[in-house]
Amino acid sequence: MPSNEHPSPFGPLQGELAKMMKSNLNGAIKDVDKIIELLENTKAQISHVKQGLDAITDDLKNVTKAQKGFGKALDRAMPLRELPVEIDTMEAHTGYVNRAVVMHLIREGQFPTAETLFREADFGPNENQQYMRQQVADSEEDQHPDAEDENMTDGDDVDESLTEKFREMYSILDELKDNRNMEPAIEWCAAHSDLLESKGSSLEFDLTKLQFIWLFNGTMGKGLQDDLSRQTRAVSYAHQHFGKFQRRHQKEINQLCAAMVYGPNIASSPYGHIFTINTTYEQVAESFTKDFCSLLGLSAESPLYIAVTAGSLALPRLIKYTHYMREKKTEWTTEQELAFETPLPSSMIYHPIFVCPVSKEQTTDKNPPVRLACGHVLSKESLDQLTRSGKYKCPYCPAEGTTADTVRVHF
Ligand SMILES: [Zn+2]
Repeated sequence: MPSNEHPSPFGPLQGELAKMMKSNLNGAIKDVDKIIELLENTKAQISHVKQGLDAITDDLKNVTKAQKGFGKALDRAMPLRELPVEIDTMEAHTGYVNRAVVMHLIREGQFPTAETLFREADFGPNENQQYMRQQVADSEEDQHPDAEDENMTDGDDVDESLTEKFREMYSILDELKDNRNMEPAIEWCAAHSDLLESKGSSLEFDLTKLQFIWLFNGTMGKGLQDDLSRQTRAVSYAHQHFGKFQRRHQKEINQLCAAMVYGPNIASSPYGHIFTINTTYEQVAESFTKDFCSLLGLSAESPLYIAVTAGSLALPRLIKYTHYMREKKTEWTTEQELAFETPLPSSMIYHPIFVCPVSKEQTTDKNPPVRLACGHVLSKESLDQLTRSGKYKCPYCPAEGTTADTVRVHF
């Protein structure tokens, strides 16, 4: 029986068996060893991390200790005093307080914070809400697309939101302070030339003049050039830009042009003082901010800042006064004025006050100051007391007059 006609069925099986005998777990064991090694290294590193975390805890302990100590010292130095809050005049006007805060944030350029507060805070009566919506208009458009129609109704410049305007102001100021570039500020002035002039502002000319002087002196941000090219550039700048100011600033322009004759010797010339100015970019930024706000009908300083500062200056006296009144069990009943002087710096006094020289009382809307024919000023009540059948005799000079000659004085 020929053996090769029926091959053994164990052939392939033996082959597979041989393969299986060769493959063992050695590879897997090696890989496991590697992992063990890695884990051991990691363990060592983790113990370093733990040491680091412990160190942080210790550091924080020191900080907490210092903070506690400071807090205690603060309490000792400034003991808590009861505030005179029997009458909180702003209690019913949360909407207006929130409005003042949002307006302050917009003025300070804190736009995202202002927008968040606007969305989340209560603004009370509808008209106040309406007003705020206009001031923060661009954030509203993102939130409610249908608010757009409302904002479009007023037409071009008028309904541009306050946020938008202050964004513009800050981009001009950034250019001025960071890049020492006056161009955007001058361009803005040129675009609002008529309005600025109607307010009596000479900002546009002042900036143009400064630009000219800086060009001439070579104190502009852009690298140094030799005398001649600097002066040529300054003169050509003057040619381009001074024309429109001739009507209002003829004298100053004449001086600037005449000074050119002295060229590099300008410092020792009679015009030296014009060219040795120390105006900094910060000062330019300040006067720009002032005029920008004035054009928006706003004061240069935030009213909230002024109110809070003035309040904290006046508060100690108010506290002292209320304590005193409580001890004496008396009350001050005049609504229009406080019973004591508030020590404010002159920069915070906006309305001059007038005290009648006869009654020694401060004038009010109901009892206004009145000017007599002779020019002396009294309060209306004092004048009434001096008047007999329409005629009076001035208590300060022999002049006599009739009440028809008197005029109410506005400060
Ligand atoms: Zn008089």
